[in-house]
Formats: sequence, C-alpha cells, structure tokens
Amino acid sequence: MIYRELGKTGLQVSVLGYGASPLGNEFGTADVAEGVRAVHRAIDLGVNYFDVSPYYGRTLAETRLGEALAGHRESVILATKGGRYDKEYPDGFDFSGERLEASVDESLQRLKTDRIDVYQLHDIEFAHRDRIIGEALPALYRLKERGKIRFVGITSYALGLLEDVAGQAPVDTILSYCRYNLMDTTLDRSLAPLAAEQGIGLINASPLHMRVLTREGAPDWHPAPDPVQAVGRRVADLCRDRRVDIADLALQFAFSYDRVATTLVGMSKVRHVESNVAAVGKTPDPDLLAEVQAMIAPVAGVCWQSGLPENYEPDAVEVRA
Ligand code: NAD
Repeated sequence: MIYRELGKTGLQVSVLGYGASPLGNEFGTADVAEGVRAVHRAIDLGVNYFDVSPYYGRTLAETRLGEALAGHRESVILATKGGRYDKEYPDGFDFSGERLEASVDESLQRLKTDRIDVYQLHDIEFAHRDRIIGEALPALYRLKERGKIRFVGITSYALGLLEDVAGQAPVDTILSYCRYNLMDTTLDRSLAPLAAEQGIGLINASPLHMRVLTREGAPDWHPAPDPVQAVGRRVADLCRDRRVDIADLALQFAFSYDRVATTLVGMSKVRHVESNVAAVGKTPDPDLLAEVQAMIAPVAGVCWQSGLPENYEPDAVEVRA
C-alpha cells in the first residue's frame, strides 16, 4: 500500500480508501457477511481510510461498517458525514447546528466509537452557502473542540462551491466525487491547486464514475447523461477486447494522481478489494490509455447539475431523466 498525507491533519492515509456506500445497498443488495469480509480484507491489505455516511442505505451502511470494524477501530481512520438524510427531513437535508450535533452522537453509536476522525458536511450544494458557513461549519468547530470529531470537512459534486466555501471558512478536508477519473479530470483545474495552497486534505471519490467505468455499467439512478454512459460501455468493450478490465485501468489512472491524498472506491466484495489494491502503484498502459482517452474526449468533463440552483455549476448539463 502507498500512503499520503491528508493535508495538515498529520494523518497518513492509504491512496485507496474504502467507500462504504455499497454496504448500504446503494449499488444493489449487498451480501452482509461478504461485506464484513471485504472490510477485514481491506484492513489486512493496508487500507486505513474508511468513508461512510448516515445517508448510505439510510443508516444501514454506518451500522454495518460499525459492526465490521468491531475490534479494528484503532487500525483505521474513520470518516462519516452529516446533513444529508432520508425524506423524513425537509428535502432529505438538515444542516442546522442542532441536527448536526445530534447526528454526530447517532453516528458514534452506530459506528461503535467515541470519536470520528473526519466529519464532513454531506453534499453542501443542497444548502444555502450562508447556512454552511454561518451555522453548519461553526457547529462542527464546536464538536471538534469537544473532541467528538477530530477534523472538519465538506463534500460536494459542485467544484466551484467547494472552492468558494473553503476560501471563506477553515476546513481540514474536501471530498469531491466523479471529478477526477477517466471521464472527468476537472478537479485538477483549480480545486486541487487551491487545496494544496491551503494545506487542505483532498479526497477523490468515485474513480469508477459510480460504475460507468466497469463491465457491469452504471446503476439505473446514475445522473450522467446518456452519451457519457454510452461511451463508458464502448470503452469497457474496447478494454475487454484487449483483455484488460476497465476498472483496473480506471483505478490505476486515479491512484496515480498524487494531488489527492486518497481515492475512495465503493466496495462490498472481497474480490473487488483485492483487485483494487492490486491497481495501487501501477502505471496504466500508455497506449491503451491514449486510445481510451481519445474515445472519451467528446464527453470528457461533461458534468451534471446537482443541488440548489444557486449552487449550479455554470457548465453543467441537465441530470439524466
Ligand atoms: P465508485 O466509482 O467507487 O463505484 C462503486 C461501484 O463500483 C460499486 O458498485 C462497486 O461494487 C463497484 N466496484 C468497485 N470495485 C470494482 C471493481 N474492481 N470492478 C468492478 N466493479 C467494482 O463510486 P462510489 O461508491 O459512489 O464512490 C466511492 C465512495 O466515495 C462511496 O462509497 C462513498 O464512500 C464516497 N462518496 C462520497 C460522496 C459524497 O460525500 N458526496 C459522493 C460519492 C462517493
């Protein structure tokens, strides 16, 4: 395993991070026992960063991860989130200070721990930025002072918003998803330089573009426009013809990008953990990579709208119906 520093946190994180959303059935029903084995195998192979949220499986992923980590808590750096929940809250979101305080306690219980290493506001594009800066982040600073959480982070699909908020309020980490992989590398444009300049730990999620870059293909709910998904299928076929798994190429590409500390891959299967660890430190075949990038070029960087209209990305397209 290769480790990198997470900004100024002093944490050394594995370049492959464990994304726990599949444990909450976000990509189809997970086999619970296999999920536990996948978590243990990841720890055995040196993965030390684990990311989850109460939103994944509407608390199921946190509960399952907490159970799998029993007896292993001290071997891992544990990240979870607050602010995004189920429909019982207005629109599924609540970034009030009161709710975040309660949410941390609930996560601590489900994760069977007394502290969360990285606590993040989940998908801030769904909130007014004044609320994030004026209420939600200050609530997290207080929780940090009280020792319930060690570091404060923000997550979003909207790169401009992440930059804006990080420019106005201190954060230890930023998580961005689907913005640095074979389909889209716009994370590198200005967020990565800003994070480096400010010493913020940068976390890259969804290097498989939420399964577009796999043989299986995207789940039904995937927001990427059809042409993006169609190119994903063609690229997977090309790789298959060359006897390469598209997921391996995609992960080699993502793990080589050293402006992020860790890249989170969603995993609930031992075979995925093993093949994903095997991609760490490998350079993608340059000829195949060039061919794949040429196929992707017409849709490279196509991004979709997410969140409140006030937080829309100027260059994003409508979400796939
Ligand atoms: P991903 O791109 O990592 O894809 C995950 C899917 O790919 C799952 O269905 C998984 O079974 C499959 N997969 C994994 N390895 C594979 C392999 N070798 N071959 C074939 N299929 C494979 O997308 P993701 O899970 O959305 O992102 C990773 C993690 O990042 C999440 O689990 C979550 O922890 C985090 N994340 C956070 C946010 C946020 O905070 N807003 C958003 C997206 C993701």
